[in-house]
Amino acid sequence: MFRKKLFIKKIKEKLEKERTLIEEQLQSFAKKDKKLAGDWETRFPKFNGGNLEEAADEVEEYESLLPIEFSLENRLRDINLALEKIKKRRYGKCEKCEKEIPRERLKVCPEARFCLKCQKR
Ligand SMILES: [Zn+2]
Repeated sequence: MFRKKLFIKKIKEKLEKERTLIEEQLQSFAKKDKKLAGDWETRFPKFNGGNLEEAADEVEEYESLLPIEFSLENRLRDINLALEKIKKRRYGKCEKCEKEIPRERLKVCPEARFCLKCQKR
């Protein structure tokens, strides 16, 4: 039992570190959506009278950031979910089949919600 506690403690630290990193990354180009928890919005470029070419570059940059925002947001959501499960002492169980997710998998992917079998389905 002690070893499981220690394992979860380590996972929790890892998740919290990840969360900080992702939030920092998001903050560099997006802002938190105040209405929707866990949602971020990439800042749309401000056009302050620059020429059209410049404006087009900025829109292009904005568009290239959107998928990054999306994937970071998703990871953040999974990380928060995992932390929530740790709090409720439900961490490490597959959400579909309720079986324990192998520790080896959790070590690589601590925010995993499903066991490998269910993930593949
Ligand atoms: Zn499963």
